[in-house]
Parts: sequence; C-alpha cells; structure tokens
Amino acid sequence: MDGEVNPREFAASDGCGPLMPDPLRSRLSLRQRIFEHVRAHGHAARTEISRALGVSAGSATTLTADLIQSGLLREVGLPAREQGRGRPPVALQIVPEAGYVIGIKLAKDRNTATLSDFSGKVIASAVTRFAPLKRSLTELLDQTDTLIAALLADAGMALSDMKAVGIGMAGVIDYATGSVRWSPLLHTPDEAFSVAFENRFGLPLYLENDCNMLTLAELWFGAGRAIPDFAVVTIEDGVGMGLVMNGQLYRGAWGMGLELGHTKVDLDGALCRCGKRGCLEAYLADYALVREAVAAIGIAPGDDADVLAALYDQAREGNQAAAAVFDRSARYLSLGLSNVVQLFDPALIILSSQRMDRDFLSPSELMADVQRLTLTRGQNPCRIEIRPWGDLAWARGATARALSSVTDTLFSTEAI
Ligand SMILES: [Zn+2]
Repeated sequence: MDGEVNPREFAASDGCGPLMPDPLRSRLSLRQRIFEHVRAHGHAARTEISRALGVSAGSATTLTADLIQSGLLREVGLPAREQGRGRPPVALQIVPEAGYVIGIKLAKDRNTATLSDFSGKVIASAVTRFAPLKRSLTELLDQTDTLIAALLADAGMALSDMKAVGIGMAGVIDYATGSVRWSPLLHTPDEAFSVAFENRFGLPLYLENDCNMLTLAELWFGAGRAIPDFAVVTIEDGVGMGLVMNGQLYRGAWGMGLELGHTKVDLDGALCRCGKRGCLEAYLADYALVREAVAAIGIAPGDDADVLAALYDQAREGNQAAAAVFDRSARYLSLGLSNVVQLFDPALIILSSQRMDRDFLSPSELMADVQRLTLTRGQNPCRIEIRPWGDLAWARGATARALSSVTDTLFSTEAI
C-alpha cells in the first residue's frame, strides 16, 4: 500500500518489547518480569528464565505455574534446534488471546490503525484517507470510529474484544491526562481527548505525541530493542524527535515532546511555521523545501507532494539549483543531529521518514558530516540508521504503548 513498509518486517525476530539488561526493569514485580521476558524472547524455557532473572528454579516453576493458571502463559514444544542434552523440550510463550489492543496514528490527511494480540503480533491493519483539513474533536472522533470499524471488520473481531487503544498524534499532548493542549489536526486547543474517547468507545485510551509512539515502535519492535539510550528523529511535515534514556521513553515535565524542529540554528533566520525565526524545521521540513522549490527554482505551486516530486526529478536530472536545495537541507540535518549527539550522547540515532527513500542521503555521508561538526574527544561516531517507515510503524508504536499499559495494569492488581 503506497510503498508502505510491511509492519510485520518490523519484528523479524520472534518476540517483542525491550531487551534490556534485567536490572533496568527491576522496579517491576518478579511475575511481571517473567511475563515480559517471555514476551521479549518469543518463548523461553523455565531454566532460561531462572538463569536470566537470577531466581531459583523453584520460584521460576511456582511463578510460571501461576501465570499459566491466570491464562497469560502456556507451554509449547521447543523448536528442535533449541533442544539439547539435559534441556526439557518445553518452553513457555504468551497466550496471544489473553488480550487485544489497537494502535492508531492520526494524521493530516490519513489515519492508520493496527490491531495486535497480547504477544505483539499484528492481526489486522487499516488506513482511511480524507481531505487535509483541521477538524473539530467530534469530527476527529467520527473519523477514528470509521477507522476502528474498518480495522475490526478486517480482523473479524468486535470492539468488546479489545483491552485498550493507543493513539499518537502530532501536537502538545499531556500523556498523563490524555488531553491535547495543541495539535495541528484540531481547530481548538485544550481538548479533553481521552475523556471524550473513553465516553464514546468505552475503552481505556493512551494518548501520546506521535514521535513518542514511533520511538516506542523502535524500542519494542525495531532497532532500539537492546539499546538503553537512543534517539529517533522524524522528518515529515515537521521535524520531530523521541528519546529513550536508560531503557525508558523520555517525556519531559510537560509533555511538550522533544521539538528538535524548533531548536534555533540561525538567529534571525528563515521564518518557521511556528512564527519564530531560525528554527531547524524552517530549513528541513517538507514545507521548507516546497518554499525553496517555488521561490528559488520556479516550480509551479501546488500540492506539497507534487512540488517535492518535481524538485526531486529536477535534482536527479542534474539541475544544480534543485540539488543545492537538498544539499543545504542535508547540511542543516547534520547540524541538528550533531546537536542531538552533543546533548544526549545516544548510541544510535534512527532517522525516520518516508521521504528518505527518495532523498539524497546516505547514512555514511551523514555520519561523517555529523562527526565533523561534533566534539567527540575520540569516541566512536554515533551510529545513524535511516528508515523509510510509514504510518503503520507509527501505529504499531501505539500498540506497544497500549500493550505496555494493559500489562502494567494487569500486574498491579492483586488478582494476578
Ligand atoms: Zn519553529
């Protein structure tokens, strides 16, 4: 669909969820750590659980029996390649039917959803498209309703089968209360989105800034699963960022998200959509390239995607002015990424945009440029990976948010 990367490719390995050293997760109960260990590895034998979590064989047996009794784990035969001398041929895995969640990305001109079982496997997905207009809260919920109906029809399931929904959208989101302080999708600020959603759908909603959802997708299904400190930088309509520190999504004090796009790279520089000058986004985002294409190259104004496509074509055909627009944009990108490296010292930066696959960026050139701009004192360059993920990956991140919260709730009650 539209060059979309199949989200199933996101989880090539068996299992999902963070693969961090266990001490990072030790705030959780032992029962939950066992459950999450099994989910992260796809399956695990009791002896392996005992060794990985540092618990006695007796405790592992008792606690896993409890989790089986609760309908959360079940026994499966170990694949032949993993069987060996003295190893029982039985492992444990998550009961996929123990719970289902929906993850959604709401965007300017399309909404995307995926439905996942409790092991994190994608069961169904859906996309709806519409004119790129701002909406009222009711209109946005109507659209979400249509999307969820299409998703459930694809899965052959009912809303009552779901445990929770995660939604990512652009804007300033108060993740704790589920309110939208501001979003480019909505006419009015300060909407109590979660309250309205939960009243309408009768399901718990976990709302986040959409870049945070994509960052969770990398932490749960992607390149960040075993990396305690990494950043995700997105280049779409705007420039966004998510950060994992010490194995956890970093959200800041007020839910502003990490607005890398509005960090200033030039005092009194180009005008940004936010009304201020010199923001990184004003040199890098789609609208900035479209502005250059029309003003400096003379490409006819029109739909952003059409103007960008024409700019790409001209650059490929050897138009130096068009190529210079991309060169300048890439230099500003290196500058922005160098600032991220200096501030956070991540082991990895994942650069995510559907534009990347058509762009003129190569990871090695970008890493070299960033390294030139960065004070490193001899340490290795920060690794940079470029991913052309589409909206389904963002929606999968929203399923990770919902799965993680449903799991926390489940294990925080006395019943389990
Ligand atoms: Zn700005």
